[in-house]
Amino acid sequence: MEKSVIKFSHCNKDIYCFFVPEECPECSVSFSGRRLEDAPVSIPNPFSDGHKNPCSFLVAPTEGTFLKDFEGDSDLHTGITDTKGVVYNYTKTGVRKDSVGWEKCISVPLVQPDMYSLIDQWDRYLDNFDEEKHNCYSYSLAFINCVLATQGKRSLSKEEFSQNFVVPRIKRASKYSMLCEQISQNYFYIVENPPKEPEDGNST
Ligand SMILES: [Zn+2]
Repeated sequence: MEKSVIKFSHCNKDIYCFFVPEECPECSVSFSGRRLEDAPVSIPNPFSDGHKNPCSFLVAPTEGTFLKDFEGDSDLHTGITDTKGVVYNYTKTGVRKDSVGWEKCISVPLVQPDMYSLIDQWDRYLDNFDEEKHNCYSYSLAFINCVLATQGKRSLSKEEFSQNFVVPRIKRASKYSMLCEQISQNYFYIVENPPKEPEDGNST
């Protein structure tokens, strides 16, 4: 089980760590018996086990790291899961079906849980889909567009799909990885958090 990142605020700083310390790493005020101004919040882990995410688009880091900037042409490996979590992914030697190896990746769910007829057909669509593509990303996107067509929906361009569904998740994942790395090295990752504007009573 991986450690999860938590965040709390003190000294006008946002402090990220794996455990809330006994005292503030900035001002050394002891937290024992006193309340933090804001309850620590846990930062959701953006990575999940792809094999447990049926009917999803997956992005796996290559070489164990995510690239800082994802343009859709980078060498991140992508795939599509069937209803049992087997990952169909396009490689130079053809489409592979992986039952293992996608345990830590970013997952974009492609169907709503109540889309029964689509889920029913999903594996058949995936098995019959063997378009020649030049990389795993265009293969995955072509499959998504094929499914959209069966639903009478218009297809998505690579840019649309990347910008709306992939890039925001990659950014979150990159930041999360950076936090974990920093905290592992220094126990804390501390960033400036300027005092909030005075409440005007209307803000949420
Ligand atoms: Zn402090």
